[in-house]
Amino acid sequence: MTRKFYIETHGCQMNVHDSEKAASVLQGLGYEPSTEPSAADLVVLNTCMVREKAARKVYSRINEIKRRTPDAAHQKRDRLFAVMGCVAQAEAARIFDKCSDVRLVLGTQSIGSFPSLLEQVDQGFPRAIDVRLSKHADFLDISPAERTRPHVAFITITEGCNKFCSFCIVPFTRGRERSRSPQTIVDEARGLCQAGYREVHLLGQNVNSYGLSGNYGARGEAGQRGDEITFAELLARVATESGIERIKYTTSYPRDFTRDIVKVMDEHPNLCEWVHLPAQSGSDRILRAMRRGYSRKDYNERIDWIKSAKKDISITGDIIVGFPGETEDDFNETLSLVAEVGYDSLYIFKYSPRPRTPAASYTDSVPEEKKTERFLKLDELQSRIQLERYARLVGRDVEVLVEGLSIRSDNDHMGHTRCNKVINFPKCDSKMGDIIRVKVEEARPHSLYGRVV
Ligand code: SAM
Repeated sequence: MTRKFYIETHGCQMNVHDSEKAASVLQGLGYEPSTEPSAADLVVLNTCMVREKAARKVYSRINEIKRRTPDAAHQKRDRLFAVMGCVAQAEAARIFDKCSDVRLVLGTQSIGSFPSLLEQVDQGFPRAIDVRLSKHADFLDISPAERTRPHVAFITITEGCNKFCSFCIVPFTRGRERSRSPQTIVDEARGLCQAGYREVHLLGQNVNSYGLSGNYGARGEAGQRGDEITFAELLARVATESGIERIKYTTSYPRDFTRDIVKVMDEHPNLCEWVHLPAQSGSDRILRAMRRGYSRKDYNERIDWIKSAKKDISITGDIIVGFPGETEDDFNETLSLVAEVGYDSLYIFKYSPRPRTPAASYTDSVPEEKKTERFLKLDELQSRIQLERYARLVGRDVEVLVEGLSIRSDNDHMGHTRCNKVINFPKCDSKMGDIIRVKVEEARPHSLYGRVV
């Protein structure tokens, strides 16, 4: 009987894409996907470690899946639990101690090890683990069947991170920064275009650091020293050589965000009007303590480049509130930065100490209630700004990729604008995957509503 797998993804877009890669590898082994953990022989949890709450979720989820599994299936003796992703990388074999149900642990660079680890378990080993990190990690190919969205595809361009911000666990869980060869990226984008994809997202922890570490993947066909190109050059190549109609990218790192990125965005119509540029704080003192490597002035300079582009580019960001030592004055600086930039949307995080990071040992922590108070205050400010930012689109025609049924109503379709906003509109003749024009009629807190023109 064919074996089935179920994958559950927590965390960022990189994780979503990693799950697609894992699904591809498992399909290659003859496994079939299942949407129900109770029907699966292999249950994979793809995990996130960026905040403590996300990390703890793994264990509660495994227990929940076990509790909810109907009796008959629960008795399945050969059902395997696997943990992959950042928690797997950071906790490694400790996972086996914390949760005896887990039999497979795969680090962030070990998705390709599924076959050998499953084989070890098949041969009777009680547990199998691979959490090796390499400077030359492979960028796995992915079969189109495993892509989660039928018309929007993710393409990894960099992996890992060399920044070592004092709060962040990513360099420890995803290893050193590696860039994929430009030709492989262009080829993948072209292949996706030929397969009918209309939009691609170029992904990396810090996409603007592309090529800077001069370290292409092991299979980087064009990855010879000297072949390195900058992120702006890569964008231009993907824009001109792939044929894809809409190209987005995330996440940008302020220090490496150069002016020529904006220039290239202006020059190529298929580069979409959206930049995600996390500031983390508006206070120079806190930015220094975070080891971000830029000042508020530097950040604002980049915002000015983006705002002075010919295109009307949406800006989104991330902010951490309650970083150790953050005073009321520091927080007010963050409020003023957020007001000044006028983000189209903002992810706000309460600081959470992460193992092995320098900030975890800082003693001047901000009380939890204070973090919550600051979170709510910033959220309230952002909600007002966001509504204004969305309202300015009312009356305009925007380009929309039709992606599916609206979550709220079966009478409506939904899609994303080029500036990455969700827009709903009454169902029309258009098919999924069509790119259409919609007149915006209403701005809602997190989405737009319109009518097809
Ligand atoms: N590489 C990007 C950068 O640093 O600009 C962001 C990547 S990180 C996966 C996504 C976001 O999680 C960060 O921008 C930050 O706001 C948040 N984050 C990371 N570590 C955190 C921590 N220890 N506590 C709270 N939020 C955190």
